[in-house]
Amino acid sequence: MKIEKNTAVTLRYTVSEITGKLLDESKEPMAYLHGGYGNTFAKVEEALEGQQAGYQTTIELQAEDAFGQRDEALLQTIPKTQFPPGVKVGGQLEGRDDQGNSIVFTVLKIKGPTVYLDGNHPLAGKALRFGLNVLEVRAASEEEIAHGHVHGAHGHHH
Ligand code: ZN
Repeated sequence: MKIEKNTAVTLRYTVSEITGKLLDESKEPMAYLHGGYGNTFAKVEEALEGQQAGYQTTIELQAEDAFGQRDEALLQTIPKTQFPPGVKVGGQLEGRDDQGNSIVFTVLKIKGPTVYLDGNHPLAGKALRFGLNVLEVRAASEEEIAHGHVHGAHGHHH
């Protein structure tokens, strides 16, 4: 079966810097609903369109096509008194931006009474190389299409 709109695609992936340094790889296969549902990057869907199980490829994405450019407005400080106990430098905590959207902040440093946080995705501002390996392609169910995501072992859990 070919990858086209409303197919459920299961794949393994690696994420590397353009220099080849490995940053992340899927420990479990991931499944997404193909066809512009925003489950994965548009350029990844573009690269996989029309392909089948067994297809492997490597693509390079500019930062704006991957996790976006860094936004300096997402660098924030909070008083140490508001800081949840047990979180350390390099750790993460969840907060909200001006629009009330949930953001994961990385703790950059703690200096005196102030905690410095960065709400940018750790891979924001980076051009990245994605290795993609298609494991399975199947037709999505009507329910999956209605929900806009894939169910099952490697998909979305309710
Ligand atoms: Zn669902």
